[in-house]
Amino acid sequence: MAFTIAIDGPAASGKGTIARALAARYGFAHLDTGLLYRAVGRRMLDGTDPQQAAETLDLADLDEDSLRTAEVAQAASKVAAIPEVRQALLDFQRAFARRAGGAVLDGRDIGTVICPEAEVKLFVIASPEVRARRRFEELAENGFETSYDAVLADVEARDARDMGRADAPLKQAEDAVRIDTSEMSVAAAVARAGEIVDARR
Ligand code: C5P
Repeated sequence: MAFTIAIDGPAASGKGTIARALAARYGFAHLDTGLLYRAVGRRMLDGTDPQQAAETLDLADLDEDSLRTAEVAQAASKVAAIPEVRQALLDFQRAFARRAGGAVLDGRDIGTVICPEAEVKLFVIASPEVRARRRFEELAENGFETSYDAVLADVEARDARDMGRADAPLKQAEDAVRIDTSEMSVAAAVARAGEIVDARR
């Protein structure tokens, strides 16, 4: 039986962490949809036309580590504003969402466009400063040299692009439950999300 948990929110809001935890807890498949846009963004940086990159994307080799850089994130949010790119990635995400056995997808438009019929919709947010601090610490831990101010500027630029685009902008679905993780521990945020899912199951 299909059961979809749709998790949307801005960069570094905690949605990926919540998505992975819920997938493990319920034995559902997980798709980080940002990786699809990051993979297309990276191919654009390598000189490939973004639409062509999206149409020929090999989902089998989404190499997560090399897609985690700030440069690729910015490229991802640029290609994500191109309707033909979004269209090319749509069917795969829809089929994934409704696969038998349950699925958790996290992104920007899962509850609004990819799977409006999702059984559970979460909209995970946190202040830009908290998100920039988290992303900065993550990048520093992974050996990337950058500054907090540069990360905050990146986060704000990406927010503006993701919320301002015409096609599938980042916004809360009417029936989504909002979780603000600014002042929450990871454990508390995951517990809150689990309560919401349990109430719908
Ligand atoms: O979530 P992540 O930071 O990896 O996403 C990278 C970029 O991909 C986002 O800034 C956004 O522009 C785009 N994206 C999107 N729709 C999704 C997931 C990601 O437009 N469902």
